[in-house]
Amino acid sequence: MPSVNVLRIGHRPYRDKRITTHVALVSRAFGASRIYVDSRDEALENTVKSVVSNFGGDFCIETGVNWSKELRDFKGVRIHLTMYGLPLDSVIGKIKSRAASEDMLVVVGAEKVPPEVYQISDFNVAIMNQPHSEVSALAIFLDRLFDGSDKSSTNRAKFRIIPRERGKMVRIFPDEADCLRILADEGAGDAIMAHSMAVKDLAVRIAALADANVDLVTSGALLHDIGRTKTHGIDHASTGARILRERNIDDSIVRIVERHTGAGITNQEATALGLPEGDYMPETLEEKIVAQADNLLSGEKRISMQETVNHYISKGLDEAASRIVRLHKELSDKCGIDLDML
Ligand code: SAM
Repeated sequence: MPSVNVLRIGHRPYRDKRITTHVALVSRAFGASRIYVDSRDEALENTVKSVVSNFGGDFCIETGVNWSKELRDFKGVRIHLTMYGLPLDSVIGKIKSRAASEDMLVVVGAEKVPPEVYQISDFNVAIMNQPHSEVSALAIFLDRLFDGSDKSSTNRAKFRIIPRERGKMVRIFPDEADCLRILADEGAGDAIMAHSMAVKDLAVRIAALADANVDLVTSGALLHDIGRTKTHGIDHASTGARILRERNIDDSIVRIVERHTGAGITNQEATALGLPEGDYMPETLEEKIVAQADNLLSGEKRISMQETVNHYISKGLDEAASRIVRLHKELSDKCGIDLDML
């Protein structure tokens, strides 16, 4: 898919720090993939990079570029937002049809924009022929370009905002280092740490072959036994889920932890086992991968599916054992290799 880039010209670091930051944040949030800023500004770069690291996406910022060269050499459609241009409504159709196959560079100014920009640009576009702001002009332009749809990327986000009618709700997506910190914080000893790392290593290999979300599998696998810091009973998975919910950890990770026992526990079994009411069957690919990686490890030691199955059968858990066989086959088929061979 063609990319949308923003070129910010006339940035004066001593004066425009806040507004250029807002131009960059609008670019990211409204679906552009990169911003070029003419003056070198390390503080601005760091602010934007920290937003990307917390809220995700692949958005890039580059400051200190030669704007004239960027504009002249750009291969694609050049759009200059200016109050002197043609009304947005009169050109948006043409712009959209070119944007379907060509990259786009959207230019916004700060101080007076040099005449060259008006000449080189393919479109000089006004968002109302009235003076206002580069922030509003850019937001409205991108929103119209993408028909109001959310084109921002939040992959690898550390924080995810859950929309609420009132108040704030944020969920945390911990990376590997955060997970290890959380485990240590809950008092995980060497055995839990070593087992969690071993499950993570195997789960990540399965995830790569199965085309699953590796970041999600990494965090879910590292945290799957966090409940064992409180109990080694059958309720360690639901205890782990409760610990993570209290820490506002993302639901996608909490569910991996909650559903990792064997190849899942049915509602009926959960009631018989006295577990809190809930769903303990792995549903997503990532939930299944962590559950089965755990089934193939005893502590740090790899064991075969048959060894795990024999263990379940010896405890009279025949139905649970056949679920493990089915899950093993499902994932092996998806990976194109028997998981016992990994
Ligand atoms: N004095 C500058 C000039 O001659 O263009 C305008 C400065 S204005 C505060 C900064 C930027 O906001 C402009 O360069 C333009 O990109 C954007 N802008 C302001 N009003 C706009 C409008 N009505 N339509 C599109 N862009 C606008």
